[in-house]
Amino acid sequence: MDFSSLGLSEKLVRATADQGYTSPSPIQEKAIPAVLSGQDVMAAAQTGTGKTAGFTLPLLQRLAETPRQGKGIRVLILTPTRELAAQVGASVELYSKYMPTTSAVVFGGVKINPQIAKLRRGVDVLVATPGRLMDLHQQGAVRFDGVETLVLDEADRMLDMGFIRDIRKILALLPAKRQNLLFSATFSGEIRKLAEGLLTNPVQVEVAARNATADRVEQSVYPVDQNQKSALLSQLVKHNDWQQVLVFTRTKHGANRLTQKLEKDGITAAAIHGNKSQGARTRALQDFKQGDIRVLVATDIAARGLDIKQLPQVVNFELPNVPEDYVHRIGRTGRAGESGHALSLVSADEGKLLAGIERLIRQELPRKTLAGFEPSVEITTRPKNGPRPGAGGRGRSGGGNGPGRGRGGNGGGQARSGGNAGNGQSRRPAGRRETA
Ligand code: AMP
Repeated sequence: MDFSSLGLSEKLVRATADQGYTSPSPIQEKAIPAVLSGQDVMAAAQTGTGKTAGFTLPLLQRLAETPRQGKGIRVLILTPTRELAAQVGASVELYSKYMPTTSAVVFGGVKINPQIAKLRRGVDVLVATPGRLMDLHQQGAVRFDGVETLVLDEADRMLDMGFIRDIRKILALLPAKRQNLLFSATFSGEIRKLAEGLLTNPVQVEVAARNATADRVEQSVYPVDQNQKSALLSQLVKHNDWQQVLVFTRTKHGANRLTQKLEKDGITAAAIHGNKSQGARTRALQDFKQGDIRVLVATDIAARGLDIKQLPQVVNFELPNVPEDYVHRIGRTGRAGESGHALSLVSADEGKLLAGIERLIRQELPRKTLAGFEPSVEITTRPKNGPRPGAGGRGRSGGGNGPGRGRGGNGGGQARSGGNAGNGQSRRPAGRRETA
């Protein structure tokens, strides 16, 4: 299967070849023909699957092939975060390099006037975060009557971030007759409700989730006392000579504190979170990508949409409150065919969170320790004699029909606990000790 057999034009095929893509990813194989046909699409896909090209390539082709129907923007792509907007905007630019299509990206936290000026000059494709788009609309800088296609990217995260009211306001401003594409990693009741009101006879597109069971990501857990975590992280970075690590913390404050500690230990680090200015975030990301800093410490929201090629190592400094976020976090490594490692530093108070994650991914994660950092209290992930991970959980992954299942789904519904399953959490780490 190649891009041209999906119906994409030579110019677009050339642009993908320039990126080094040899064949379409599974989501692209399914989404591209559906989007080209002009139908509505509801796609279950997360970052890392190639979903951006999955909707961008066919939309660019439609722009080239169909006459403009009104004034102003023709394709509106809404994303939850600035980073994702910037990344999607960059993809639009890349894929349209041999076409006359114009595009712009707008998000908050930066000056609005250059964005207004750019929109005045006219753009075909606009990538926007909802809040800034509403501001621009209120200032009369953007008109919606020529919108032919709306894309809601990472719709679940948009709802998580409280954008539903802005989204509804924007929907009310768009022409009634248009193509709608909804991409979401999960399909909660709220997303389904949004989808029902938005999509007409959608083509449902789903690919095996790039979930935690993705074989390319090697996962492990380091049980450790809370107050030893930053020292352990410094040790791991030095011991393994990691040059590029993305570390997740639960809070912005925690991200700042950890960055300072790492710096104190002689490890170059920067934090990226919602309280940082856009400039600081872009700079940190650039320094990290270039290898000027070894550790990028991020909160979940800030990390959403980060696309770092060949990121070898992800560390959960704290486990996320929502198990699905674990899957998102580790999806940052092992992307596009590369292998990756994800490890989690877990203290005794996080046992319940770990249990939720292991239930979701239907896998018991191997425990490791580094000499000198053995925990004083064992982590307990389940009540005595309780069900082991993978032995029946809530079945989020099982038997999906349509994109309704959670992002932990692996379609087959089979447990993947492997040889670990019988031993549960009560296994002493000592029996599996490895020095990392
Ligand atoms: P996305 O899911 O859109 O965030 O894309 C994830 C990564 O996959 C990006 O770095 C893309 O550049 C890359 N990518 C997209 N399509 C392909 C493809 N067909 N082959 C290889 N890599 C791809």
